[in-house]
Amino acid sequence: MKQATIIKSTGSWYLLKDKITSTIYEARIRGKFKKEKISTTNPLAVGDEVDYELHEDGVAWITTIHPRKNYIIRKSVNLSKSTHILASNIDLACIIFTIKNPQTSLGFLNRLLITCEAYHIPVLIVINKIDLLINEEDLKEIKEVTHIYKKIGYDILEISANKNINIDILKYLLKNKVSLFLGHSGSGKSSTINALQPDLDLKTSVISNSNDKGKHTTTFAQMYDWSFGGSIIDIPGIKEFELVEISKEELQNFFPEIYKFRSWCKFHNCLHLNEPNCAVIKAVDEDEISQRRYSNYLKILKDL
Ligand code: GDP
Ligand code: ZN
Repeated sequence: MKQATIIKSTGSWYLLKDKITSTIYEARIRGKFKKEKISTTNPLAVGDEVDYELHEDGVAWITTIHPRKNYIIRKSVNLSKSTHILASNIDLACIIFTIKNPQTSLGFLNRLLITCEAYHIPVLIVINKIDLLINEEDLKEIKEVTHIYKKIGYDILEISANKNINIDILKYLLKNKVSLFLGHSGSGKSSTINALQPDLDLKTSVISNSNDKGKHTTTFAQMYDWSFGGSIIDIPGIKEFELVEISKEELQNFFPEIYKFRSWCKFHNCLHLNEPNCAVIKAVDEDEISQRRYSNYLKILKDL
């Protein structure tokens, strides 16, 4: 049985890459798979591991889709109940964060972190544009942000895409992994990707080996290989992805530091708002949990 990874999915046709030969084929899927996965608009997503048979006309027919270790979704705007799987089997989400030009809010960072926690995707926080941080206020902020997120257990790397600072370390951290870049527009995603590999053209590096369907190339997720090993899934236009439905009670599960303290709260259903003997509030008072993270938790809780 031949094995491959889906590197492009448009919902009606696919590209896959053979695991051993790295040959790229146009792929199709039989109707029965589509019927089994009625809750999603696409039965196959970029990153899916599949088995396939190669037919004489050069088309790969997918016979098996292996279980996904994780995936991210986008809700369909017009079809209220259907969800679209954007990508699967992601080893690392690189969140590109900036202290200034533009300033990324901690609220935005936290939302991305919550989503990654909920989807079981490991995270690397990349602080870009450190070459711009020269005044005292900026330096204080980067120190504080680093302290807050390191203490929770997140990996953080400071880089400058334009000044080529720590790009070799980033390369090392991405090597042999399937990664995804998230962040505000203007935070430097393209610049970072370009610093990592100048000749990686996200729009044209994979060309369909069949007919002229290239028109849609930029509007669908696609996986590209790094020359140093591993790959990146590019999802045009993505800044954020949809959170799965989460309840007020579940939110704390995605704040690792709140989750850690919750078992010492007096009430097992404590939401850490103002309940008596709340271990989380105590931890905030004692600076074990960051006040900024806790405030953000309260804000998100209110909005749910
Ligand atoms: P994207 O929208 O996230 O893809 O951001 P871009 O890569 O297009 O970068 C937005 C702007 O930030 C561009 O003008 C880049 O030159 C600039 N930029 C990116 N990285 C850095 C950096 O490390 N330092 C500085 N000073 N500017 C940067
Ligand atoms: Zn509590």
